[in-house]
Amino acid sequence: MPSFVAAVQDGIARVEFNLEGESINKITRDVRLELERLLDKLQADARIRAVVLISGKPDTFIAGADIEEFVALENRDQARKLVQAGQVLINQFEDLGKPVVAAIHGACLGGGLEAALACTYRVATDDPKTNLGLPEVQLGIIPAAGGCQRLPRLIGVRAALDIILAGKTLPAKRAFKLGMVDELVHPAILEEVASQAAKRLADGWRPSRNGGGVAGLLLDKNPLGRRVVFSQAKKQVEKKTGGNYPAPLAALEAVEHGLRYGLDAGLDHESARFAELAVGDVSKHLVQIFFATTALKKDPGVAGAAPEPRPVNNVAVVGAGFMGSAIAGVAVQRGGADVRLRDANVEAVARGLTAARKILQHQLKRRRITKYDFQRLSALLSGGVDWAGFGRTDLVIEAVFEDLDVKHTVFRDIEDHVAPSCILASNTSTIPIGRIAQAVRDPSRVIGMHFFSPVEKMPLLEVIVTGETAATVTVTAVQFGRRMGKTVIVVRDSPGFWVNRILAPYLNEAGHLLRDGVAVETIDREMRTFGFPVGPIALLDEIGLDVSVKASAVLHEAFGERMAPVAGLGKMTKDGRLGRKSGRGFYRYEKGKKKGVDRTALDLLGAPAETAVPDADVTRRLIFAMLNEAARAIDDDVVRSPRDGDIGAVFGIGFPPFRGGPLRYIDELGASQVTARLAELTERYGDRFAPAPILERMAEASDRFYPTG
Ligand code: NAD
Repeated sequence: MPSFVAAVQDGIARVEFNLEGESINKITRDVRLELERLLDKLQADARIRAVVLISGKPDTFIAGADIEEFVALENRDQARKLVQAGQVLINQFEDLGKPVVAAIHGACLGGGLEAALACTYRVATDDPKTNLGLPEVQLGIIPAAGGCQRLPRLIGVRAALDIILAGKTLPAKRAFKLGMVDELVHPAILEEVASQAAKRLADGWRPSRNGGGVAGLLLDKNPLGRRVVFSQAKKQVEKKTGGNYPAPLAALEAVEHGLRYGLDAGLDHESARFAELAVGDVSKHLVQIFFATTALKKDPGVAGAAPEPRPVNNVAVVGAGFMGSAIAGVAVQRGGADVRLRDANVEAVARGLTAARKILQHQLKRRRITKYDFQRLSALLSGGVDWAGFGRTDLVIEAVFEDLDVKHTVFRDIEDHVAPSCILASNTSTIPIGRIAQAVRDPSRVIGMHFFSPVEKMPLLEVIVTGETAATVTVTAVQFGRRMGKTVIVVRDSPGFWVNRILAPYLNEAGHLLRDGVAVETIDREMRTFGFPVGPIALLDEIGLDVSVKASAVLHEAFGERMAPVAGLGKMTKDGRLGRKSGRGFYRYEKGKKKGVDRTALDLLGAPAETAVPDADVTRRLIFAMLNEAARAIDDDVVRSPRDGDIGAVFGIGFPPFRGGPLRYIDELGASQVTARLAELTERYGDRFAPAPILERMAEASDRFYPTG
């Protein structure tokens, strides 16, 4: 079956793209060859005066080039050839000698947008499903089928850089405002409008465009202005990537090169840079994470034949504090559920509802939802101190104080007020779910749903299952978590679950470093250089020192000496230094803004002013503490696969995605190298670094976590 079907009427060829056997359209090698032949035919056919390109898929125009093909590339030469072939195809649109109109509904991304940019005219639907963008840099590559050339020529350098360098995807309305799209229409008239435009173009009409408005033109046409734009963008990119992500800078250079030396030279530059990036480690890791996230979206969360998830329409959140209110807000905003927020205390309910509504207001302000949506969603949110509505609740998420007795009372009460099919979830960060489940008559309905703060921003959800949790309960919690927009990993009920378990020794090590006299600034800087978004000391302040002390105690109890907390942290909490929330932690905060390091905190901790620890050891101690614990945890089957572990670390802690995750990183260093380093650290800094037995076994057998690279 061909992927393209062409039909000619009144001199206009309607070309419908419908890739067989796939839910989306993408540009594969076969698609490219077929389209090339088709374009040749259309060019030669004298009856045809113009072409309309439209998709046969419901929600996709063209989602991009086939990522699988680009992953299979073995060397630069192959990569360059692949992308040059793409350029030839896309140039063919431009050189057809007949106008081509792209009729865009649904995702128009990457190579799909590059094709649309080479068309003569673009009509898009104003549907929320229609999005246009060049996400390539997010995969560590650059738009190399002319995207770095045609977008700046169409909408101006500044607007184009804004999209390309961040790998942005824009809703159709925004794309229209920027001039990426010529006309915005209701889906019902897309085809009609596109063929009208094709006819007008065939008759010689040309749209007038101004390449990014007057300001854009002034800057773009003036070499001096352009130089300023590029040098500012370059500085921003360097600051943002910390030198760890080469793609945005390469894209910037490709844009600059093309504007200076012309389209052909620009395309040549694009293909060379693409080739170099496509076979590099950064891109390899970013693509692995992309594939892992995509696979997780389809993973039901249980092994073998998965039962159907239960419908979740009514959700109750018990505990309207910091976490509960945010969970309620997101369950409404993203989950679209009817949410009842309950607390023991009336003021807390009122505060909680206000906080939950704030999440909706923020969405409205950012124009992510319409006023109508805002009102509709706000109406789904209610609260109280009673049990109203609990009888029809499908899922209860508990977020009361972190205290086992309180949770037991709350769970008993909940069980008395809900239907037998209702799922009972806890958002506890440290208490074993199995222990919470002891309070109820039917522990098979109990599960953990561990959200991260701030709930509306953090992408990860750990779903924690005990030996007794029913499979239906797991698949339902996983599915609802996904509906809330989260990347969900299923974790075995064990102390610290996955994320806090591997985070604890890392944060603890930061404390040890302070006690060894290493400066706060050095510790945080070294980890930011490694690629974390914030350093561990700043992170401790964010988490809250009280929360952290409590979590450490649990892990210490569970795992013994290697997790022994650093002396002195308790003194800080007694002194009222809880981190950002109290305005004082290791850093000082004024009006919510982080100011400098608070030296008096270091006195409380008993930290000396000088250190003998070299910077390289700072990095090593922190990172290897985390790697070692990740290895131990996977040996304990805390996560179901290395994939889940790496995704948890990247999305839950901010482990640098360009390194692929802690387990990938161990594989790349090699288990023997990791074991040797840990042995060295043990000798110099103590037994907490003793290599995990699994690493020693792997070193011996030259084994890896991932069977292939
Ligand atoms: P919080 O103190 O802000 O909120 C707790 C709320 O529970 C309060 O409003 C309190 O009035 C209410 N409450 C207490 N007893 C109750 C009862 N018997 N019935 C109904 N409501 C009751 O606490 P938080 O930071 O939102 O934490 C809540 C849970 O989330 C804890 O289990 C915590 O470990 C977990 N958690 C917290 C974070 C975080 O960053 N704060 C992250 C992940 C998980």
